[in-house]
Amino acid sequence: MWAVLAAAGSGERLGADRPKAFVRLGDQPLLAESLARLDASDWIDAIVVAAPPGWEEPAILLAEELGCSKVSACVTGGATRADSVRLGVAEVPGDAAVVLVHDAARPLVDDAVVERVVSALNEGWDGAIPALPVADTVKRVDGDRVLETLDRDELRVVQTPQAFVAQILRDACAGDHSGATDCASLVEARGGRIKVVDGDPRLMKITDVEDLERVAAMLP
Ligand code: C5P
Repeated sequence: MWAVLAAAGSGERLGADRPKAFVRLGDQPLLAESLARLDASDWIDAIVVAAPPGWEEPAILLAEELGCSKVSACVTGGATRADSVRLGVAEVPGDAAVVLVHDAARPLVDDAVVERVVSALNEGWDGAIPALPVADTVKRVDGDRVLETLDRDELRVVQTPQAFVAQILRDACAGDHSGATDCASLVEARGGRIKVVDGDPRLMKITDVEDLERVAAMLP
């Protein structure tokens, strides 16, 4: 099983002088937390990191400092998340069975959620994604006009890590992926069957400085 760690975002909303993966979370770069956790996972054999352009070397050095022995490649990410994932997946060897795709922006990944998504593949699904119920009422709008109120019982907030049968993800990445914000949507678009498993509230995505502070307070 291979993991692709998408870490090539610019993170403009953080307003930092460096890409999001290298802003500080506690006393390390944000990337360190998810990288060390995936490296320590018994489920994962090898890792490809998609780094921001110009930050490939710091990413490799960080992996070495952390003693992450499973990092097999560090690629330069693309203009969008989907591009970065495609470039990472291209480094996964043909005989890999499963690819797990994770966002470095969600540092608190743990083995329990990895086990849930991977186990779903053993049940015959093409992919599996962690998701949480929606607590708020959600409306579809056009500008400032409400078009409709959606049935929140049918909605889920989706996280990473997402697991896929390797060849199915490869095929999905090869197609058109403009506008895709996760990998499962690429597989869905080709008729793939995706299972939803329980997500984890601690897997929150870091977007702004308040998120960083919140997650820093949750670090063990
Ligand atoms: O931008 P956003 O927060 O949605 O990014 C989600 C994840 O995708 C982050 O971990 C980010 O580093 C990654 N990403 C990427 N390449 C891009 C844009 C985002 O690897 N071009």
